[in-house]
Amino acid sequence: MLIRAVGGAGYSDDVSRRTKIIATLGPASADPEIISQMVDAGMDVARLNFSHGSYESHAGLIAAVRAAASDHDRAVAVMQDIQGPRIRVGRFPDTAIQIQTGSEVRLAPGDGEGSASLVYVQHLGEVTLEVGAPVVMNDGLIQLEVTSVDGETAVARVVEGGILSNHKSVAFPGAALDLPAVTQKDAADLAFGLEQGVDIVAASFVTSGDDIARVKSIVGDLPVIAKIERVAAYENLDAILSVADGAMVARGDLGVELGIAPLPRAQKDIIYRTNEASRISITATEMLESMTSSPRPTRAEVTDVANAVLDGTDAVMLSTETAAGGYPVRAVAMMAAVCLEAEASPGYPQSTASVSGFERSFASAIAHAASDAAANLELSMIVAFTESGLTARLVANYRPAASIIAFTPHESTFNRLALVWGVTPLRFPILDSTDTMIEEAGRRLLERGLVEPGDWVAMVAGIPPNQQASTNLLKLHVIGSGSTGAPGGSKQTPRIIGSDED
Ligand code: ATP
Ligand code: MG
Ligand code: MG
Repeated sequence: MLIRAVGGAGYSDDVSRRTKIIATLGPASADPEIISQMVDAGMDVARLNFSHGSYESHAGLIAAVRAAASDHDRAVAVMQDIQGPRIRVGRFPDTAIQIQTGSEVRLAPGDGEGSASLVYVQHLGEVTLEVGAPVVMNDGLIQLEVTSVDGETAVARVVEGGILSNHKSVAFPGAALDLPAVTQKDAADLAFGLEQGVDIVAASFVTSGDDIARVKSIVGDLPVIAKIERVAAYENLDAILSVADGAMVARGDLGVELGIAPLPRAQKDIIYRTNEASRISITATEMLESMTSSPRPTRAEVTDVANAVLDGTDAVMLSTETAAGGYPVRAVAMMAAVCLEAEASPGYPQSTASVSGFERSFASAIAHAASDAAANLELSMIVAFTESGLTARLVANYRPAASIIAFTPHESTFNRLALVWGVTPLRFPILDSTDTMIEEAGRRLLERGLVEPGDWVAMVAGIPPNQQASTNLLKLHVIGSGSTGAPGGSKQTPRIIGSDED
């Protein structure tokens, strides 16, 4: 099989890595030059966490991502992560304080600036507090226990202290919460995101398919990723997957609610079921955590990344490492290197061979046939002409060993496909005949150095072109030989080929 990492004159398409990399942007990566280097190092999706930052800072980051993607002639998607009905602490002088083990802390509703003895908690009024109830802050690092409740405020004893910084998470395991799936802040943030043209939305703290439907009713056809971080979400995974476009194993908060020990099993289960449902799977949180303050990750961390790859995840994610860490570019480069190595493991990629929801459709039959042909003929590439991106996603679902090129005339599809396993999106003009499409595709692939004359590729398309036809064509094609497909100068010796020469 032919795989080239470096393309022809002026191009550097990396079609060799199949697992996609999401990197969270924040203060550590706000400089356009750093963002450009992160794109160069392999960032496929830039995540903006709307729990943090201002509209002004998010707009600046989005502009820098668009500029870097354009400079590198690469698809980079912008993912807007909305806070959802999650509870966070307020702010602190100099952004952080030390919470002492054994001390008493007053909890008060709001987003004000607190201290070591007074912590503001957003939406505290919507939480039913009881004496003796546990309170968990900063993804489980800080543990408290409620000792008294007085109206909307409470006092809690610190069982395990630690450093608490602005807007860190607070969980009230077991307590009843009265918060809508899409808060007022989320609705305003989504309106801002739509205006900015974000490509993908990730919804935090959802617990049902209805929650995702609420988000979808606001964002129209934007893909929505459900963050699985509550036990209720995990329990309702199938219902969520019937509405969402993907699921993220948000290991931080899921580990708080579920406990740490069951996490690896939950991760494997969520990835497996998400892939089976033909949805996008993402593995997140603490993947290279030590790179927040160290130029090198631990052995355990790189093994964790590799295992997520082997679990079949579409994408792996960096959080604090790139948002607030000291080595954002190195973290992305390390992630890319570890993914690439893991993908060389025996047995990878493992076909899920599932297209649930698309059974008995022309598109899935063609996608299956293309993957099958790619395996049998050891094709170097499957080319999908796609308007919505669905054809490329269905091909990717079969996890073929061949790289997948998605040619699309739509900027939104081009960007969104940056998150899909194994797919390299490339721009393509709207053409009006199948023959010119195939010819033009071959020309572009050659020009980018992605194929050589004589290479065998599979092409899938909906014909007639330009009429929203469902995918119905599979063309086995020899590059540089015109549309009749006679082999010439191939490095691959034809073994079984029916001659279609005149
Ligand atoms: P979530 O549970 O949604 O992942 P989080 O608070 O853990 O929320 P991450 O997105 O994982 O946040 O980012 C890690 C840390 O990076 C945050 O806790 C925050 O301190 C910092 N951070 C991220 N984005 C920003 C931003 N735009 N502005 C300031 N700080 C940020
Ligand atoms: Mg989280
Ligand atoms: Mg996090």
